[in-house]
Amino acid sequence: MKKYILSIDAGTTSSRALIFDHKGQEIAKVQHEFKQYFPKESWVEHDATEIWNTQKSALLEILSQHQIAPNEIAALGITNQRETTVVWDKSTGKPVCKAIVWQDRRTSKYCANIKEKGLETLIKKKTGLLLDPYFSATKLNWILNTHKEVREKAEKGEVLFGTIDSWLIWNLTNGRLHVTDSSNASRTLLFNIHEKQWDQELLDLFEIPRAMLPKVVSTSAKIGEVKLSEWDSSIPICAIAGDQQAALFGQLCFDSGDVKNTYGTGCFCMMNTGTVPVESKNKMLTTIAWELNGTTHYALEGSVFIGGALIQWLRDGLELIEKTDEVEALAASVNDNGGITFISALTGIGAPYWDPMATGGVFGITRGTKKGHIARAALEAIAMRSREIIIEMQKDSGIQFSNLKADGGASKNNLLMQIQANLLNTNVVRPKTTETTAIGIAFLAGLACGFWKNQEELKVLWQRDQEFKAQPLEDSKKIIALWNERITKIVKHES
Ligand code: ADP
Repeated sequence: MKKYILSIDAGTTSSRALIFDHKGQEIAKVQHEFKQYFPKESWVEHDATEIWNTQKSALLEILSQHQIAPNEIAALGITNQRETTVVWDKSTGKPVCKAIVWQDRRTSKYCANIKEKGLETLIKKKTGLLLDPYFSATKLNWILNTHKEVREKAEKGEVLFGTIDSWLIWNLTNGRLHVTDSSNASRTLLFNIHEKQWDQELLDLFEIPRAMLPKVVSTSAKIGEVKLSEWDSSIPICAIAGDQQAALFGQLCFDSGDVKNTYGTGCFCMMNTGTVPVESKNKMLTTIAWELNGTTHYALEGSVFIGGALIQWLRDGLELIEKTDEVEALAASVNDNGGITFISALTGIGAPYWDPMATGGVFGITRGTKKGHIARAALEAIAMRSREIIIEMQKDSGIQFSNLKADGGASKNNLLMQIQANLLNTNVVRPKTTETTAIGIAFLAGLACGFWKNQEELKVLWQRDQEFKAQPLEDSKKIIALWNERITKIVKHES
């Protein structure tokens, strides 16, 4: 009997495997961290072979430790850190160099050169993205231009390109499948999100040979089979999706206007815009959410670089707290922020300001300022930056929504959730499961193999933990007014 769905959650710092049952309950989880390489300032690399090895051991261990046989698994789904670029030799299976991670900024100059040629509008129209080192194309161009012999082989299809999903599936299937899905493809700067195919004009622009690209498949469909030599039977691969898109699905944001915000190191906010790609006028990204039952769904996305990372800085930089959990009690030790505004531009500031040179600031300090006020202003900063993104999204889409679904490590902070609800004047809902990415890909895989019949059936599996009702307070108005005034002192607004 097929009792379970197996999720691969290939993250930025660890390889994870999780098993869910028919009720959407997490049965098991295995996680292995892998090494981060920082060879130069602003460079971030991964060893793709280590990612595969840690992922493979997580898969083997999760079944053996829990005595689950492969034939009890109905399907496997893969969700992954997006944009990270791997190039490998088709005949040896070895990466030609380290993978260039989404955080890596080495191609900033190259992006600026293309921008100067006035090509960003064309790129945005076709891909929904901005011209930024974040996405795969300029990273791939860097690899091909740095290793000349690789370019020659790439022209002949002897070396292959893939994001982490493609790389893992290629390994899981012993080189039989070289595929990706449209949610991952839409993060490369090479994929036309309207025509839903690789775009020749963009391939020419970024000098990428078509022969090295993976085939783009549906997000939720029978894609192939995995049989590791240690297993006595195979498991069908039934879903692939980028991590933020999987989390959107895991939060059951199926309809146009549904929004989730993930409060992790940064904050990733995504709004489902239905079957229409909404072009942003406010420097948000337009991206493919998923392709399901032959229909493509789109989303608007905005990210805040410093979310929970601000609390890490209170702990490690300022040494105001010893553990991140302590911030809630400290912030609750005062009734309000005492006039403090904490502008959290610790690594520049993203949408809608896009000022990479901005630095942070704490305003309004008096002799009455206490630690608690700083902690409270830090929580307010996380909520204010998310608010700014969400408001721009509402303007772009013309949709006002009635609640925001929250997840991620910092979402367990009740005070932060309440502040967010008050500042947005919108209820914030937190689900019981914090593993929204892994459950999202499990749902997508389960739908493709009939484990769950339809999206309606999934709705009863999503369990609410707590809802934070918006309280329209005078205090919130003050926080917003001070923020708006003080942010102009350190960042310039481009848009
Ligand atoms: P990621 O997936 O980006 O690694 P997680 O979802 O695991 O992030 O969340 C970790 C982040 O949440 C850290 O930046 C940490 O500072 C923050 N965090 C953890 N607990 C709390 C808390 N109680 N209040 C506020 N932030 C928290």
